[in-house]
Amino acid sequence: MLNFHSMRNFVVIGGGTAGWFAALELRRLFGQPASITVIESPRTRVMSIGEGGILIVPQALKRYGISEDDFMKATGAAYKLGFQYIGWNTGREDDVYYHLFHRVPEADIVNGIPVNWAMLAANGVGVHYAIDSLPLILRNAAQEEIRAARAKAGADHFPASFHFDVQRVAAYLKQVAMARGVRLLEANVNHLERDGESGFVRGIRIDGQEAALPVDFLIDASGFSRIALGKTYNEPMRSYTKYLRHDRALTFYIPPTSKNPHLVTRALAMDAGWMFQIPVHDAQGQERISCGYIHSSAHLSADAAHAEIEKRLGCKIDPLPMMHFDAKHFERVWVGNVMAVGLASGFIEPLESASIGQMLGQMMTFGELVGRSAYIVPELAINTFNQRNQIDWHGIADYLCLRYDVKRRDTPFWRDVATQVFPATYVSLKNCWQYRLPRPIDMATHAIGNLPHFPSTSWMAAGQGTGVVPMQAAAADLASLPSERMLEANKFLASVRSRFGLGTPA
Ligand SMILES: Cc1cc2nc3c(=O)[nH]c(=O)nc-3n(C[C@H](O)[C@H](O)[C@H](O)COP(=O)(O)OP(=O)(O)OC[C@H]3O[C@@H](n4cnc5c(N)ncnc54)[C@H](O)[C@@H]3O)c2cc1C
Repeated sequence: MLNFHSMRNFVVIGGGTAGWFAALELRRLFGQPASITVIESPRTRVMSIGEGGILIVPQALKRYGISEDDFMKATGAAYKLGFQYIGWNTGREDDVYYHLFHRVPEADIVNGIPVNWAMLAANGVGVHYAIDSLPLILRNAAQEEIRAARAKAGADHFPASFHFDVQRVAAYLKQVAMARGVRLLEANVNHLERDGESGFVRGIRIDGQEAALPVDFLIDASGFSRIALGKTYNEPMRSYTKYLRHDRALTFYIPPTSKNPHLVTRALAMDAGWMFQIPVHDAQGQERISCGYIHSSAHLSADAAHAEIEKRLGCKIDPLPMMHFDAKHFERVWVGNVMAVGLASGFIEPLESASIGQMLGQMMTFGELVGRSAYIVPELAINTFNQRNQIDWHGIADYLCLRYDVKRRDTPFWRDVATQVFPATYVSLKNCWQYRLPRPIDMATHAIGNLPHFPSTSWMAAGQGTGVVPMQAAAADLASLPSERMLEANKFLASVRSRFGLGTPA
């Protein structure tokens, strides 16, 4: 059992996005009497890179009383409305599909199936054509137009997240947290002292200081340093490298390519992985595009990755130091009086921007669990929390596997992906989707996690884009609909075709 009533000293190791969001959650949960200290190493700085969020980011801002406008102004963040996938099936530039943030109106759902989406899918029309934000994306509308569209429709009806520079986000969250009384200690942690009997961490050893810093509850947000669960506890990790082979990110910046920041994270398939392109603003307000070639080092050397990028973009690049990672996470993220969050708890890869989302989901569900347990949490609940957290990671991995289950066979990497095994959970869903569309009940396994991120409609959009969910599956679902509903859905299809000039197949 953990009795939080008797705790006063809360320490967070790490001043990245995860560390500062964790400090805000601790302040929300324990109020002003609690002492909250964030330790940030002057040696290991947060990387500066453009990243994208998912829908939990605006939810988190709301939870921590931060207005979207303040956040955007202070960090230079721009609206993000989803993802654009380029070349994933053929390698060609005109091979494009989208996964857009969406909210399907209740009236459009029959037996768990969004009927208008199904009608589009059954006729080979991208389901993204059903989403209100698409016209704005296609004409690369200005940020003010997105703000106005969100204000008019209501944020819930026009879902959006953000593109941002993580270093600027961490700096802003630090300012907010410190204004709420969170203390910053710029120091390097070198060792954690554990109680011989309970194994709990009781002291934090810092370079150049005699006495250990006392701690009642520790959040490890030390990024890839993984000080607590890795270096101190040596906890086992679950690896997904068999399914998701990327282990390197070659990152760089290029000048903006359009008048307005693009509204979707661009994911361009490459010879041994994919490249993200994300618009960001530096501290001087200058726009640039943050890019990263996420690739498998077993298939591509650093020099070859560099050369491939320059050939693809037709310009010279100035790469930042190569980043190394493996798709894996700790099986238990909460052990005794320590919880790891963010990269310190695990990382799979950047596709679909789930990492910050997973971190926020974990922090928020931790806060709910502690609050709803009246601040006295049984060991049993911690075990369940850890099991559910594993399910969340597994859901992300399954969803990413669907993204790689594509038709490309033109390079050794894509041929290896084509012949690899995928997790049994993903395969069992895929088998059903040959006959009918994904629906909410399919997500039941993932839904027993703490906070799953991808609804069945996201799987449908991805499955249509990769070809895993065939047109016949949609047609089969439509066949059981009453004729009046089919008539309505046919009218919707005709209106989409005429609005977007798609024409009717002969
Ligand atoms: C190439 C790449 C692209 C990504 N793209 C996305 C994306 O698009 N969307 C998304 O959601 N996520 C993305 N991520 C993941 C995302 O960057 C992280 O989840 C997020 O920024 C949280 O990072 P963090 O705070 O856990 O770690 P970090 O930002 O690495 O911060 C670690 C902190 O720990 C401190 N620290 C380390 N060691 C010590 C020590 N010994 N003593 C004291 N302090 C210490 C450091 O000083 C630093 O403050 C990406 C990751 C990579 C590698």
